[in-house]
Amino acid sequence: MHEAFTYISGKRHYLLCSDQGVEVFKDVTLHLINDNHSYERITNESLDADLKEHLADQKIGTYLYGAGSERFVKELKKLASSIGYSYEESQYYICDKTDKYRIFCAHCHDINEMKNSQLLQCTNCQHLLKISQQFSRFHDAYLGEVIRGN
Ligand SMILES: [Zn+2]
Repeated sequence: MHEAFTYISGKRHYLLCSDQGVEVFKDVTLHLINDNHSYERITNESLDADLKEHLADQKIGTYLYGAGSERFVKELKKLASSIGYSYEESQYYICDKTDKYRIFCAHCHDINEMKNSQLLQCTNCQHLLKISQQFSRFHDAYLGEVIRGN
C-alpha cells in the first residue's frame, strides 16, 4: 500500500483527523512518535461542533492531516481554510473504504485490487474470479474463486 501522506517534520503540533478510523495515519504516526512530536488523532463520524471548535482553537504552527470519505474531507478542507489553515499547513486524503478491495486469486494467488463489484478478471492469470465472502488475514484480501469456463 502506498503512503497516504507525506510526512512534514518540525511543526509545533499535529492534528490527525478522520471519519474512517486511524489506520490511514499509521505511517505518519510512526514518524511523529520517532520525532517525539506532539499530536492528536481524532476520529469523528462527522464535523460536529466540538471538532469545529477544536480546530479553531489550535495555535499557530499546528499541522492538519485530514482523511476519510470524500464528503468528510471536502467539509474539513472548507472549514480548515475558513479558519486559516493554509495550503502549507494541511494535507488531505480521500480513502473511501468502498473504493478498494484486495482480492487474491484462487488460481495463481496473485493479489488484485478492484472497486466494488462481484466479478473480476485476474490481471496475472486472466481467470475470471467471483468474489467470495471468505477473507484471508494472511493475504489481507478476499478470496476470488475461479469461475470455470464452459
Ligand atoms: Zn490469477
